[in-house]
Amino acid sequence: MRAVIMNEPHEMHIDNWTTPTPAPGEVLVSVAAAGICAGDMYIYLGKNPYVIYPSVAGHEIAGVVAAVGEGVQGIQVGTRVSVEPFLGCGKCYPCRQGKSNCCANLRIIGVHMPGGYADFVTAPVTHVHPVPENLSLFEATFAEPVAIGVQACRRAQVGAEYVLILGCGPIGLALIEVAKARGATVVATDVLESRLETARALGAETLLADDKLLETVMAQTHGEGAPVVIEATGNPKAMEQTVDLVAAGGRICIVGLVKRGTMVSFPGLDFTRKEMTIVGSRASVGCFPESLELLASGKIQYPKVATRFNMWEAPDVFKNLAEHPDSVQKGVLMRESS
Ligand SMILES: [Zn+2]
Ligand SMILES: [Zn+2]
Repeated sequence: MRAVIMNEPHEMHIDNWTTPTPAPGEVLVSVAAAGICAGDMYIYLGKNPYVIYPSVAGHEIAGVVAAVGEGVQGIQVGTRVSVEPFLGCGKCYPCRQGKSNCCANLRIIGVHMPGGYADFVTAPVTHVHPVPENLSLFEATFAEPVAIGVQACRRAQVGAEYVLILGCGPIGLALIEVAKARGATVVATDVLESRLETARALGAETLLADDKLLETVMAQTHGEGAPVVIEATGNPKAMEQTVDLVAAGGRICIVGLVKRGTMVSFPGLDFTRKEMTIVGSRASVGCFPESLELLASGKIQYPKVATRFNMWEAPDVFKNLAEHPDSVQKGVLMRESS
């Protein structure tokens, strides 16, 4: 089969790769589309220590079941599916608690094993989800980023209330519409006006993340602070500010990733005084069905801001994205030109 192969960081080319055969319990998926995520850029830039080169990236995958392995039941060849890429070991403490997203031996399709930038990919049958009829496979690649939004909103118990989202990158954008679907009034912030424009197009009220942010949020919430603050920047300064932005008794959900070893400090007294809940949110677990439902319901317009590229032009696309990271809001590689 054809695949987008990286032999080393910054080196990407199209070449032949052994077509995988589905092991017992697995299905073979003929890839239709695969999203480009910050994680894929990290592999390209050589910033992901878990990747073994040569590597085929791509974990936001949608396609059609082409074959099934031994013992696979309940899914037919020809079914359109979205692939859930996070595979837990099923044995460790978080897996036993139903939190396989935090698995001690987590493996990710497109990171630890070949991903969706290829003609075919294999996945456990438990990790392929039928795509609703009215959803295109291009749109279905958004099941993964939207699932991250679903997970964060579940962790933060977002309801019909004021929700402040820090950061309008790909995850922040996915969060806006999931929070809105739960009835939230969403206010989103970023340092880039171009990103705020997209956030507004998706239905958020926006605020520039400048030194007036705290003052404005306080004014908007009658001096109480935000009931929910979701951090999606990965910036330690923004993380530290969540404690000031949140209302007493409110919830903070940290989705953004800081660099390994980076410390974030909070004023200790506020933990007790404000009795805030601080939770982390990592990838997603059990969120794909809700994510696909949200996409099919039309409540998620996020795919509309994405740019489609031909998968076999990936080497140029990645080179360009490495040089101009903000040139597209979100890219999706399409295997067929349709
Ligand atoms: Zn992703
Ligand atoms: Zn595990």
